[in-house]
Order: sequence, then structure tokens, then C-alpha cells
Amino acid sequence: MKVTFLGTGVAVPLAKKAQSSLLIEDDKLILVDCGFGCMLRLEEAGYSPSDLDAILITHFHTDHCGELIGILKARWLESDEKIDLFAPFAKENLEAVLEAYPYLRTKVKVVTKDKPKFGSMKFEVREGKHAIINYAYKIENLLISGDTRSFPELYEDVEIAIHEMSLNFGYKAVDHTTPENFVENARVKKAYFVHMYPEAYENRSKIKEFVEKHGVDASFPDDLESFEI
Ligand SMILES: [Zn+2]
Ligand SMILES: [Zn+2]
Repeated sequence: MKVTFLGTGVAVPLAKKAQSSLLIEDDKLILVDCGFGCMLRLEEAGYSPSDLDAILITHFHTDHCGELIGILKARWLESDEKIDLFAPFAKENLEAVLEAYPYLRTKVKVVTKDKPKFGSMKFEVREGKHAIINYAYKIENLLISGDTRSFPELYEDVEIAIHEMSLNFGYKAVDHTTPENFVENARVKKAYFVHMYPEAYENRSKIKEFVEKHGVDASFPDDLESFEI
């Protein structure tokens, strides 16, 4: 299974970082989140929207789903296949959004199963703790957090986390993760930190040192970096 980061940025501009988005590739090609800038990165990673088998969305903040309509439109032009769109928490919102684009609906299937499965790729859905409903996705031993504060139940059977680290040291972790909040709760071996607001991003070397002192190997990937499991 190969994971490629398309967007490692956040809801405010950060140089060279598209907003939240990544690709998971095995026997299917799955896009998890589609914040602004991800379609360009998808093309730079060597794919087109018509190569995607499904789109999973963690939550309905625009830095995670803002480019959805653009991707669906590009795919509508390029492909005759329907794409699976998984965002059950937002089914009514999605239906309302798609109402404005009736032509897109002919090539979109909204999937609402509890445990989405695409080919051999089985996802588990775990509710996060964020300002609005956010779902983290687990596949094999990998967790994709979306936006959430860290709490122990998120990490059952997880060894690797692609995790938001929105906030720097010293903030109260309510809707987002801080370094202190992460080390207190996350029992994982490896963390790829993304979705960092500028203050945290500028302090990433101290965050790395702190997290690694607590036994978690920490990376801060840029757009288009990838790893294999
Ligand atoms: Zn959010
Ligand atoms: Zn966000």
C-alpha cells in the first residue's frame, strides 16, 4: 500500500502546501480529503481525477473538501464511471450541494456504509473530537486523523498515524492537537504530522524533539512525498 501526500497544509495559506489531501493506492486508488490545491497535486503525482475509485472526506471544513466539486467536474468530463463518495455524516449537506450541479450526480454514488470497502481496501471509521463532526479513517495499521484533538480510543490497533498537529506548545487542545496532547494520548510508533498552523509549523524541530523523546518517530512531510506500508 502506498500513501502519497497531496496537500499537507492548513486552512490559511502556507507556501508550497496545498490544503489537506492524500492518496492511498493498493488495488484501488482512494483520495482522502480534497482541500484547495489538491487537483493540481494529483496531476503532479501522475494521476488524473478519472483514475480515482473513491473519495473519502473526513469532515466538511473547506480545507478538507473545498475542491470536491472541481474534482467531480473534471472526472465528469474524463470518465464514464461513477465515483464512490464517502461522507455519510454529511449526506444531507452533500445532497444539497450536488443539487446545484445536477449533471454531476449522474457520475457520483454517495456511499453510506459504516465500514467502507473498495477492492481489498477496508476502512474503519472513528469519530474524532473537532468543532464539527470529523471522521478519522483507519486502514490496516494506519490512521488518518482528519481534524481532531488526540484521545486514546483513536489509536486502537494503530501503529502509524497521519496526524494533524495544528497547534504549538501551550495551547489548550479542544478541537485540535497540540504536542502535549499528542504524547499524552497517542500510542503509535510513527507519526506523519500535517495540517500545522504557521506557529506550529515554524516550531516543528522542537515538536519533533519533544515527540521523539516520548518514543514516537516523527516526520513532517511536504506535498508529493510518499511512503509504503
Ligand atoms: Zn476542521
Ligand atoms: Zn482543517
